[in-house]
Amino acid sequence: MGAGVSGGLRARGGLSVWVANIRSMSAKRPKVPSELRRRVLIEAGHRCAIPACKTTPVEIAHIIPWSKTRKHEFKNLIALCPTCHTRFDDPHGSIDRKAMRQYKANLNPLLSVGLRNREGQAALLAAYQELRARFADWVPAEVQHAAAKSRRSSSLKEVADLRSQSVHKFSWAMCAVLDFQSAWKDSEASDLVGSILYHVAGWSDEVHDAPFPLPKETRQRDIAEEISEASTELHLMVCEELSM
Ligand SMILES: [Zn+2]
Repeated sequence: MGAGVSGGLRARGGLSVWVANIRSMSAKRPKVPSELRRRVLIEAGHRCAIPACKTTPVEIAHIIPWSKTRKHEFKNLIALCPTCHTRFDDPHGSIDRKAMRQYKANLNPLLSVGLRNREGQAALLAAYQELRARFADWVPAEVQHAAAKSRRSSSLKEVADLRSQSVHKFSWAMCAVLDFQSAWKDSEASDLVGSILYHVAGWSDEVHDAPFPLPKETRQRDIAEEISEASTELHLMVCEELSM
């Protein structure tokens, strides 16, 4: 009997620990504040944010799981219907995080920014737009240079011309980065822009320094793909900052 009582106590102890864990888990994960929830729903028009779906009802999903960020942040939240939410949460599913971030970025084309909201917002946006334009000019030029240097049939003159075009465009991209950083001061966005620039510039140097034709490992790098996630991240940071 004694064993039965102590067994019962152990079970109760076990259960109360379990309940306490559940309580502390929910205490650690606060609800998405209603104002933030509303913003996320409005962003997607109160429908599933996947354009071809647009189903209702919707749930609020974390793009990077809450267990990793421990925060509810607008840039990391997206409205999804239960079916898309389940597909996204399935680690073997076809909707990966990168795709989901792209869906989120597509909801924020920066066209609806109210520029009178805050002083300096227009300058921040202009610096970002200039940066995008300069990168959109420079990165493909560098890709073209690398492609030409990969082909045995290219002449050295052709490679050199494409290199000089890319260097010229790099100098414009560099100016845009400096302007961006002076407008955005010490922000995460400034740091990220710096790392994107150095990532592409590093690759550009590698292409330039490599023998002709380019060795396989340099030839096969997909620089646009390498920076695509950071570019999406940057876009979301900018949207977050400007839509406050
Ligand atoms: Zn859906």
